Amino acid sequence: MTIAYQIGDRLYLNLTNQCSNDCKFCIRRFQAGVGGYELWFDQEPTVEEIIAELNKEDIDHYQEVVYCGYGEPLIRVDVLVETSKFLKENYPEVKIRLNTNGQANLIHQENIAPRLEGLIDIISISLNTADARSYQELCESEFGEEAFVGIIEFIKESKKFIPKVIVSVVDQAGVDVAAARKIAEELEVEFRVRSFSEDE
Ligand code: SF4
Repeated sequence: MTIAYQIGDRLYLNLTNQCSNDCKFCIRRFQAGVGGYELWFDQEPTVEEIIAELNKEDIDHYQEVVYCGYGEPLIRVDVLVETSKFLKENYPEVKIRLNTNGQANLIHQENIAPRLEGLIDIISISLNTADARSYQELCESEFGEEAFVGIIEFIKESKKFIPKVIVSVVDQAGVDVAAARKIAEELEVEFRVRSFSEDE
């Protein structure tokens, strides 16, 4: 199983294949991994297994360590917090980025954003569209149209605890990029348009 994999000057961590969405554009629908790495798990990795993989790496060599994975990393928030603590304690200079669908507080039914303080340096939250209905059409969240509202709330909470918050959308037909950009401006966070083939 692939837990840690390098793309360019970043080290990506794959924690889970679980997700609360089933996005129509999800790379998991079309291929078994990225960059030649097989990312489906038979069994999800433990904290110990992830740290064992990190110990094989020259972490300071990387520009960033990125939680991305073939699923939603914050579904395993306990594991993410423990591995981030290991990284911050042993490699205090390393930047840690988290790519997420922003539904963690709906998934866990509590505000988990404070747990990321001091651990996650950059969070990239996939807003994907500019309204709840089109989000649900595109992303098929298990939370229905409530997902979009939850993501907006999670963006606001993330701003309190994480130094850099980026909101992104996918550049494809049916996505109102201008309206999503306006939401990001109103929330006073960075905005990024991803190509169809990019990770979150
Ligand atoms: S949120 Fe990410 S991992 Fe989940 S289905 Fe959508 S693109 Fe795939």
